[in-house]
Parts: sequence; structure tokens; C-alpha cells
Amino acid sequence: MHDLATRRSAAAMRAEGRSWSQISRLLGVSRSTLRAWEARGPVARASDCACCDDVALDQSSYAALLGFYLGDGCISRHARYYALRVSCDASLPAIIADVSACMSAVRPAARIFHVPAPGAVVVSSNWQHWPCLFPQHGPGRKHERTIVLEDWQRAVVETRPGPFLRGLFHSDGCRARNWTRRRVAGEWKRYDHPRWQFTNVSADIRELCCWALDLAEVRWRQSSWNCVSVSRRADVARLDALIGMKQ
Ligand SMILES: [Zn+2]
Repeated sequence: MHDLATRRSAAAMRAEGRSWSQISRLLGVSRSTLRAWEARGPVARASDCACCDDVALDQSSYAALLGFYLGDGCISRHARYYALRVSCDASLPAIIADVSACMSAVRPAARIFHVPAPGAVVVSSNWQHWPCLFPQHGPGRKHERTIVLEDWQRAVVETRPGPFLRGLFHSDGCRARNWTRRRVAGEWKRYDHPRWQFTNVSADIRELCCWALDLAEVRWRQSSWNCVSVSRRADVARLDALIGMKQ
């Protein structure tokens, strides 16, 4: 696969009046490929966007960022760009760092901003192409519109459910440390029952969470209308290993 720079070089050489054979020799690209490139039209301006240009997407970071976006993120339109914002709990520095790293990996040229808000730090970055990568962007609040992943997004999550679940649970989830006392052979013993809960008012987003849990073979149940719980010991351990603690 040829990179975009090679395509641009070919276009520039053609504009200088060189023949296909000359360009082919200089760039080491077959003439049939060069002709196919020309038929595709001018090369788009370099955008770093995996949807618009031939650039690779860091799929694990993207899967996590998609989870964060669906959990506590939003995209807003400005005159010359879109702002992607993910609101993070100010007391969880590792998650703030994780969101920032995922944004940087998905768009390496991105400048990442950390904007303080009451009890929160909003991690944000401006780019024209955020809606290409997050086509779920639309008017109104996420739970008031239909959220359906595109086929390419589903393919990313199918191979990387762990990072996607990390994004979801580290934004709209919590790990509760429930415990009970039970009398065993005349003695009171304490039993800890940690469990993960994902709470979101969008039925579509809850469904995506359940789908990803199924992909990761983590059993779940709907514990209330807006909450998905993972509470069996083996499943909690599996999810812990996949996504890590919230910190
Ligand atoms: Zn794009």
C-alpha cells in the first residue's frame, strides 16, 4: 500500500509534464497504479483523517475513545472546526491521561486542551474531521437520538471490545464495593462483592455496552431500567482485567 506522500509526488510530477514511465521509474510504482490514482481525482488535502484519507487509525485507542465519547463526550460545531469534548472526573487523573492519550493517538497532530469545570476536567481537541470518526454526532442530546454504529466502527469494536468497554465503564460506569456479613459456623464473616455498573439513559448506548460485554464473554444483567450490572465474581474479575480500575 502506498502512502499519501507518494500519491502527492506522483501528481506533482505529472503536473510537471513527466511521462507515466518516468514517474513509475522514479517512485517505484507501477504505471497501472499511477493511472488508477489519476482516475481517483486529485489527492485530498492532508487531513490525518482515516475516513477521508489513506491514513491508518490506531484502532485500540479509537475503540476506547468511542466508548468515552458515547459515555461522557460530545461534539460541537464551531465556525472552522468541531470540538470533541470528554468530561472527566477531576479526581481521576489516570482517566484524564487515558482520554488525552487516546485523542492524541487517534489524531497525532491534535492539540489537547484540559479545561477545568466544577468537579471535572474537560479534555478537548478541535478538528474538522471529528464527525467523520464519530458519525453519531448530531443535534440534541445523545439519549434523544438514535445511536447506531457504522459497519466499520462495529468491526473495530468486534476485534477490540476491551478498550471500548474501558471507555464506556470509565466514563459512565462505576465499580461499587458492596459487602455483606454472613454467619458461618457461629462466626460473623465479611464478604466483599465488588461489581461494575454502567448507567446511561440511552437505550441504544446501553445496548452497545451489552453487545461489547457479550463479545468479551462477560456476563451481565439489566439491574434497573438505565443500568447494566456485572456482578458475578468471575465476570467482575474478567472485566477488571480487561479495563482496569477507575483511578
Ligand atoms: Zn474526514
